[in-house]
Amino acid sequence: MADKRAVYPGSFDPITNGHLDIIERSRRLFDEVVLGILENPEKVPVFPIAQRLDAVREAVAGMDNVSVDTFKGLLVDYLDHQNARVIIRGIRAVSDFEYEFQMAMMNRRLRSGIETVFLMPSETYFFLSSQLVHEVASLGGDVTGLVPPGVLGMLARKYPRGRSRRKR
Ligand code: ADP
Repeated sequence: MADKRAVYPGSFDPITNGHLDIIERSRRLFDEVVLGILENPEKVPVFPIAQRLDAVREAVAGMDNVSVDTFKGLLVDYLDHQNARVIIRGIRAVSDFEYEFQMAMMNRRLRSGIETVFLMPSETYFFLSSQLVHEVASLGGDVTGLVPPGVLGMLARKYPRGRSRRKR
């Protein structure tokens, strides 16, 4: 049944424990969850699509009802392709609301019958974003506990000593 399959789209650049929190909640609500990693030609990602895909795959290995894929173009077209009618999005602080609301309304306009379901993460991850992870890691800060272990390795390779880490 199409309703039992949900798509969780995002840049996942990189995947964080906030994303994983939303994935865990989604997979308890839906039979199948498809993680759709967006390949957006308009945005230059920090990590290329292949690396983001590997990191997401590794992080969700063992979650039997979660699959990982990439997509380009309109999200509603991708939902058709997946035979799904539910979009999962995570909502954190109030700042997410306006953008997410606009996107949900636009997607509903483009394809009636598609619903966006918003889930809230645990408060531990409420202020966590991929961008913040990059900022902290690039300055030599420790993001252990905020990203899956594989992403810690990716960040260490990307920012070998932190861009401007000072000696203590
Ligand atoms: P996008 O570029 O589509 O916003 P992201 O990977 O940044 O891609 O986010 C994908 C989805 O995951 C969004 O709905 C975002 O609000 C949600 N998300 C990201 N980080 C968190 C977090 N720490 N807690 C809950 N939801 C999150």
